[in-house]
Amino acid sequence: MTQNTTDPIAVLRTLIQCPSVTPDEGGALSALTDMLSPMGFSIERPVFSDEDTPDIENLYARLSGNGPHLMFAGHTDVVPVGDEAAWTNPPFSAAIKDGMMYGRGAVDMKGGIACFVAALARYVEKNGNPSGSISFLITGDEEGPAINGSKKLLEWAAAKGETWDGCILGEPTNPDTMGDMMKIGRRGSLSGTLRINGTQGHTAYPHLADNPTRSLVSLLDALLYPAFDEGTENFQPSNIEVNMLDVVGGAMNVIPAKASAVFNIRFNDTWNVDTLKAEIERRLNAAAKDRKLRPTKNNDTVFDIEWREQPSHVFLTRDDALIDTLGKSVEKITGRFPEQSTTGGTSDARFIKDYCPVIEFGLVGQTMHKVDECVAVDDLETLTRVYEQFIGDWFLAATSKAT
Ligand SMILES: [Zn+2]
Repeated sequence: MTQNTTDPIAVLRTLIQCPSVTPDEGGALSALTDMLSPMGFSIERPVFSDEDTPDIENLYARLSGNGPHLMFAGHTDVVPVGDEAAWTNPPFSAAIKDGMMYGRGAVDMKGGIACFVAALARYVEKNGNPSGSISFLITGDEEGPAINGSKKLLEWAAAKGETWDGCILGEPTNPDTMGDMMKIGRRGSLSGTLRINGTQGHTAYPHLADNPTRSLVSLLDALLYPAFDEGTENFQPSNIEVNMLDVVGGAMNVIPAKASAVFNIRFNDTWNVDTLKAEIERRLNAAAKDRKLRPTKNNDTVFDIEWREQPSHVFLTRDDALIDTLGKSVEKITGRFPEQSTTGGTSDARFIKDYCPVIEFGLVGQTMHKVDECVAVDDLETLTRVYEQFIGDWFLAATSKAT
């Protein structure tokens, strides 16, 4: 099967029509294989497995040449459609109405992949292969647990000797219109469970018990105030949210024995995971000594903290050539140099940054994960032109940097 890969609309239609809800491949990687093979890519599709999580198929495609190596990264998996009856057009139909193409993954992020495929096809048609290598690192596990996805795919490729000079990740980065924003870093994310051990007893005899909710209030107060920082040059202030509370009580007249809280912190480059953990423990230890809410007790609050595995590390891309090249490519096509942002949730850039500088630019993200996810057909053309410009300019910049 061959198709017109220079047309992002046709490419995206093919991809949307593959129902690739995580963990299903849904035909999306096969479709991509069919598009990239005729362009001369060598393609591998490793499947990764782990305990308690579904096997995931991934794709690594490389077009080899002499010179620097540019990676395009993304994911073909999509989130579930939710209430299918609520969609105006079926979620895997790729229907076009009033200049919009509808479908799950339209902006997050089959659209980004389609535009890069089309951009490369156009570039090659005009200029021949770039003076270097281009690879697609595409996972089927970004929206799911992300255990058998980009992290393992990068390890797998690096173990084969693959190295990269720069990466562009095609997640939707623009809040309202094309050209608004690129992402040059991401905040870190750290989660933990705070458990407090009290002593169960009768509410009428509190001196014989130790109510853990008194300690919980003090300890959470210490986490919530004062703020961890006021933000930095490139990042918003770090922020903590307490998102679950649990008190194992039994009856109106029973003081419970245990209380716990789950929290999540999105943190900036004031901290790393270790220094942030140390600060949290320092605050909790100090609060555990505070008897304001436990005036009749003569012992410190007994607590423990369990850190959730695999925190995301904060990072900031400092590769000026990559940032400048992409920013100028966006400016040439849209007329605006995009804001350099580090806002929003984590992305697979958190894994890629360990291998090469990474930057993110894609479509307008307003409808991602929603019913009636859609992309403006005009935006597909704009992003394709941005990527085509970027491919040309990046190889020029990277080649002159190397010589
Ligand atoms: Zn995404």
